[in-house]
This record gives sequence, structure tokens and C-alpha cells, in this order.
Amino acid sequence: MSPMYRPVAESETSPVALTQRHSVVLEPYVDTRGWIQNAGFHLKRVAALEKGAIDGPKAVVLHRTQSSTIESPLKSFESGIGTHFIIDKDGAVHQCASLLMRTAHVGRIRSRCYESASCPVEEARMIKSWGWAPARLHDHEKSKTYPHRFPMNEDSVGVETVASFDGTSWERPTPAQEKSIKALIQLLQRLYGLTDSDVHEHDNISYKTPGEGDGLYSPSSAYGLPPLVQPRFPFPT
Ligand SMILES: [Zn+2]
Repeated sequence: MSPMYRPVAESETSPVALTQRHSVVLEPYVDTRGWIQNAGFHLKRVAALEKGAIDGPKAVVLHRTQSSTIESPLKSFESGIGTHFIIDKDGAVHQCASLLMRTAHVGRIRSRCYESASCPVEEARMIKSWGWAPARLHDHEKSKTYPHRFPMNEDSVGVETVASFDGTSWERPTPAQEKSIKALIQLLQRLYGLTDSDVHEHDNISYKTPGEGDGLYSPSSAYGLPPLVQPRFPFPT
């Protein structure tokens, strides 16, 4: 008789260890309110951060908190300035604002074409003639669409990593933070169709202490999420 088919009464009951499912793979998704589910994140909404509907998001901006713990940045989030995500020293990811909403985390942007020496000649000449004029430059840039300009609050997700600054250099992310940053970025890329070229370091696009976003994310990092498991049923929305 085939081992595959036995009359019911003749088969032995399977050992419990082989039949009890201890874990299942749950695909992370963004729920209808803009919160990431099934990723193990801590949902810690700070209502003051949410400033109205976001466009996209179309990019990710990486920040460091300039603090040794998560408490002080979380406190300052209540003033209305902060990011969607903050990654604690132990790698725990806290989502503090809905992904449907924009938050105030970028400030005034620099000129992308000017920084990369790719502006039309006349525009480059004009910007150069302004000298140090962040407000004027931001007003000029904001009329462009991403990615022709750097991302702004209106269209980017902010990610803070808890790390301090000693006046000279920024603290490296812990291995747990590196792993979480990578996983979060990969997830956002997957959810919103973004690429590594959409991941920006705050100090490269605005007027911040050099190095603030440096060394947090490397596309070649070995960390990351396992390959996407295709859901068998319609993706939750
Ligand atoms: Zn920043």
C-alpha cells in the first residue's frame, strides 16, 4: 500500500511535535492608518509629530539623535519636531508617526543640482550669486519635484538612530542598530518602491553637523530581511 494513502483507522496519530505549528511567517505591511504591522516594531505614536498628509513617501532621510539614550529625543518629539521612526541602542524600532503623515525632520534643503554640479548654467550662476542664503535656496528648490531636488518633510520618511556626538565625531551605530536600520530601509523600499538612491543622509541635503547621517546604512551590509515570501492571498491593506 502507498505510504501516502492509508485507510483512516490504520494510520498512527502524528506526533504532536510534527503537527503543531509554532510560528508562521507574517508579511509586514502598512495598515490603513499608516502603521507597520508584523515587523516587530513598537508603536509609540506622538500625535504632535503628524503634520498633515505626506506625498509618497518617496525617500528616506537618516538622522542621529545626538543623545546617549532614547528618552530625550522622544521628549523633544512632543514639541512637534521629529521623525517617523527612532531606533534605540538595542535595535528596537519605535514608530512614532503614521506613514500617511509628514513630520518635521528635514528643515531647509540645499540645491541638489548645485551640490552635484548639474544645474543648468544660468541656474548655477544665479544660486552662486546668492551666496549664503538657505531660506531663498529652499524656496527656489521646493518648486521642483523629487528627485530633481532633495527630499523634504512633505515627501520623506525620517529615521532617527540614537547616537551621540562628542563635538568631533558621531557615535557608530551598535550592531543591533545597524541590523534594524537595514531591515527598516529594506522594508520601506519594498513597501514604497524606493531604491538606495532614495536613502539620504540629513547633513548631505540640509544644513546640519557634518556626518550626522554617515555610516548608518550601507547597501552592501550583510544584514537584512529574508527574501520576500509571496503572500498567497491578497495583500492586506
Ligand atoms: Zn537630522
